[in-house]
Amino acid sequence: MPFKALGLAPYLIKTIAKQGFKKPTPIQEKAIPLVLEGKDLLGIAPTGSGKTAAYVLPIIQMLKGKTKTKNRHLNVLVLVPTRELAIQVEAVFQQFSAGLPFLFKSLAVYGGVSINPQMIGMQHVNVLVATPGRLLDLHASNAMHFNALTILVLDEADKMLNMGFKKEMEQLFALLPDQRQNLLFSATLSQEVQHINSVLLHDPSIIQIEAKKESIDLIQQTAYLVSPEKKGPLLRQLIQNNKWEQVLVFTSSVHRADQVAHKLRKNDIDAESIHSKVSQASRRENLANFKAGKLRVLVATDLLGRGIDIAFLPHVINYELPRSPKDFIHRIGRTGRAKHPGDAISFVAEEDKHHFKVIQKKMKSWVKLINADEIIFAQ
Ligand code: AMP
Repeated sequence: MPFKALGLAPYLIKTIAKQGFKKPTPIQEKAIPLVLEGKDLLGIAPTGSGKTAAYVLPIIQMLKGKTKTKNRHLNVLVLVPTRELAIQVEAVFQQFSAGLPFLFKSLAVYGGVSINPQMIGMQHVNVLVATPGRLLDLHASNAMHFNALTILVLDEADKMLNMGFKKEMEQLFALLPDQRQNLLFSATLSQEVQHINSVLLHDPSIIQIEAKKESIDLIQQTAYLVSPEKKGPLLRQLIQNNKWEQVLVFTSSVHRADQVAHKLRKNDIDAESIHSKVSQASRRENLANFKAGKLRVLVATDLLGRGIDIAFLPHVINYELPRSPKDFIHRIGRTGRAKHPGDAISFVAEEDKHHFKVIQKKMKSWVKLINADEIIFAQ
């Protein structure tokens, strides 16, 4: 089915074509007509499914003729769990609002940076993409009003709940007008997401897009049995011997992420870490450099495992396994996207063997454990 058949306006069809999107993804095909109809929506869809454009496109179209609200009176609020996702989602609004035949302004706001520029930036904003805490702070300072709000989007609702934003979310819901369209997107349908669904959404249409087995199949998975003290040398050997140029490494803690990046730099491998304790400016810079191919290795905690879209990332390394199999899928989902084969490598210590089995069972995909001693320092 072409985009044209979904009820989108010609100016959006033009921009979509310019972006090189040839046809809608399954979630776009299902969600766009429903959102345009004004229906509440529950979308269970993983990152990489094209869910952002599935709500951004119809929302932009629905704002036609409605964007001349009083100053600081928002039309649309998009709540997201992380700063990175806020920036990324707002960029998609910008991407598709270029050349619109009506006034339109979007803005991303998030914590960890000074609030004043965001207060000033709120002038005449129609669509605000925000993390919950900063939004409450801005609202408390009278930076925006919700009387004209007609659409609320919760993106990665499960992640938002996992990150402990439940109280902030409820506080926010109480501030919004009752009459509005609600769109809820989540990678999983946990009990808490179901609860939000039941209190927030009215007679919602439900769309469920399975994480594509084929996208996991696209990923070349390898696992090494390796003791914790040999993980560093193994990582360096893999990067150097294979001449890998863009490698995303996941660790379970902030401390380990810093330590791994530091050790790589000491061995002349260009590396930076990105996690909650890194300043917002450095996170942005490291991520931008990594995306642009100017930084060879990015070491991240799971904060980055969800929602961040890096096209054609060839190598992902699980330096430490995540506790949850879902996080494992999200981590390795950074690679093998958009039909480009990628490479995911897991370092498994003796004590992680059982946990690794649990992860594989959940993924329904089995990976042979290679003893790292067979390859490490083999040369
Ligand atoms: P998302 O799941 O929203 O994070 O999107 C994942 C990636 O798919 C992004 O890089 C989008 O630009 C891309 N994408 C979204 N929709 C389409 C489409 N219809 N055709 C091709 N790529 C798309």
